[in-house]
Amino acid sequence: MSTAESLSMPEVAGNEQLLSEFRQMRRQNHLPHALLLHGERGCGKKLIAKWFSMLVLCEDGEHAPCGRCKSCRLVAEDAHPDVMTAEHSGKRMGFSVETVRMIRREAAVLPNNGDMRVFLFPDSDGMSVQAQNALLKSVEEPPAHSCFVFTAESVGSLLPTLLSRMTAKTVFPVTPGECAEALLRRSFQDGEIRTAVAKFGGNIGKCIAYLTDESVRRAADDAAALSTALAQRNEYELLRLLTAAASDKEQLTRTLELLDCQLRDAAVMTLEGSFPRLGCDRAAAEALSAGLTPRRALRMHGAIREAFADLDGNVSAGLTATALCAALCDA
Ligand SMILES: [Zn+2]
Repeated sequence: MSTAESLSMPEVAGNEQLLSEFRQMRRQNHLPHALLLHGERGCGKKLIAKWFSMLVLCEDGEHAPCGRCKSCRLVAEDAHPDVMTAEHSGKRMGFSVETVRMIRREAAVLPNNGDMRVFLFPDSDGMSVQAQNALLKSVEEPPAHSCFVFTAESVGSLLPTLLSRMTAKTVFPVTPGECAEALLRRSFQDGEIRTAVAKFGGNIGKCIAYLTDESVRRAADDAAALSTALAQRNEYELLRLLTAAASDKEQLTRTLELLDCQLRDAAVMTLEGSFPRLGCDRAAAEALSAGLTPRRALRMHGAIREAFADLDGNVSAGLTATALCAALCDA
């Protein structure tokens, strides 16, 4: 095993410019006390947040994160006593006000090991206004030894007051080639790598989920078939697919999230002719984009958001699927 492989380092792919900017900040002692990493789901935000925690806590000031010191190793093993992750309250990506208050109290406590404590808020998109307000003061005037790191798909999901007190940085998906290499390093086979990259481009997280999780694979196939049914305005097929996906709530949610991505891809294609890959089937998104007006795309997106609200509000998956089918056909 080479020296490089024996380092405890999160396998961040691409985003080299961002990482070197952070390294520079650490050398100059200018690391932000509140950081937001944003970018599409699966592009490696949480991995970079972990790398950043390592950078903050590394004992080697010159070569941080070194991947060798005790701090780096503890962060790599998710066992560092000065790194704390805010737990979601169970609703879609939300943190409870109690969780935020608990973290505020923790943030006032001095670090166990070194100079800093890091507080991670993964998937902050669904954070309630109350929870964000409860955080405001800590982020505005953080204790000198505290660092807050948020990850979110979109900056738009955070309150401007909170956002204005953070350093926001974009995390980008890598190229399909870099993604394939990263998957090869994780011991996936050539054929399956090609299939996954064809579906999700340079989004390593989505590719891994597709290759390792049967329910994700099924959701991706269903979302592609649903896009085709929508493109053909085939109401019967739409209802059949939605009803099948509604066998359980989580599966329906997963499928609709991907369908929403397909819809965004299709909408962007009609507007700009370009293709940011969020969805899982380019051909189906292309078919959907033909004859798609911005107004219809918005109405369909609204119908999907409403379905999420229903699922959160304890409407059954079956009822949600039926109502969504009608709304999509009317859109
Ligand atoms: Zn280190």
